[in-house]
Amino acid sequence: MPRKPFLSGVWVVVLTEQSKDFVRPFLLRRSGVRGRVAHLNETVNDVLSRQDYPEAVARLVGEALLVCALVASGFKLRHRFSLQIKTDGEVRLIMAEYTTDGTMRAYASFDDAARLIPMEQAHNLLGRGTMAMIIDHGPGTEPYQGIVPLSGGDIAESVQEYFGQSDQIPTSIRVAMAQQIEPDNSYMASGILVQHLPGEGGHDGHDEDDFVAADAIMHTIHDSELCDVGFDANGLLYKLFHEHEVAVLDDAPVCFGCSCSHQRIADAIRLYDKEGIAELEDAQMIDASCQFCGHVYEFSGGELKAE
Ligand SMILES: [Zn+2]
Repeated sequence: MPRKPFLSGVWVVVLTEQSKDFVRPFLLRRSGVRGRVAHLNETVNDVLSRQDYPEAVARLVGEALLVCALVASGFKLRHRFSLQIKTDGEVRLIMAEYTTDGTMRAYASFDDAARLIPMEQAHNLLGRGTMAMIIDHGPGTEPYQGIVPLSGGDIAESVQEYFGQSDQIPTSIRVAMAQQIEPDNSYMASGILVQHLPGEGGHDGHDEDDFVAADAIMHTIHDSELCDVGFDANGLLYKLFHEHEVAVLDDAPVCFGCSCSHQRIADAIRLYDKEGIAELEDAQMIDASCQFCGHVYEFSGGELKAE
């Protein structure tokens, strides 16, 4: 990938194709503050095109994907990171997943009443509930799960509180999503995260002050800066953090991808609908679609009854 010098000797990756989605890590060289920018326009549009979500639900799914990408890419993952939100509101469940191959997927289940809520009031759809962050290192390992209450219906805020309280890693997150009515109703979705990692760089005794300064800068970001048609991640980082000597590291590319299969969907039906399967005739055929990608699979009663 071509590179060019940037900010007095710091090197940055120059993307040749601007439309590709990415998570871009960065660091503020004069402090123990690290961060990431996630740009997910294509991923979010791909995910949302597969289900008929009301606009407010679509916004929540987009925000969940952004938060998931920003958080997941900070772990030393071996397989998959999932964000799982359960509430007693009109949106009952949101799942967002990031896999180490850079694929993401998401879905939401919701009541019809969610269709009456405009995009601007999306957070009202999340009632009281919990948010789980699940790290799955793959077959043969036990997933690690951290759970926090959902703070005021805000996904990003809940993650901030989790890191601040459970892991004592001060974290600041901004995500934004907007829909372009012209020309094609497509969505724009980007977000940014900064974290204070004690002991990594910085000046002795000034680490916390550096994070407080970075957090204050994060609060100056307007949604329109994250959802601009010509979104320029490096330009935004320079504008925000040039006095902190921001340096940009290599991108992790991201795109939509679903790991469903005939076998996995059959296993899920066997797990969640034992009574329904018992009532099927062996020769009877049923359809079931993947909640993430919408792909339709066909099964016979006999196949589902056989383990
Ligand atoms: Zn699928």
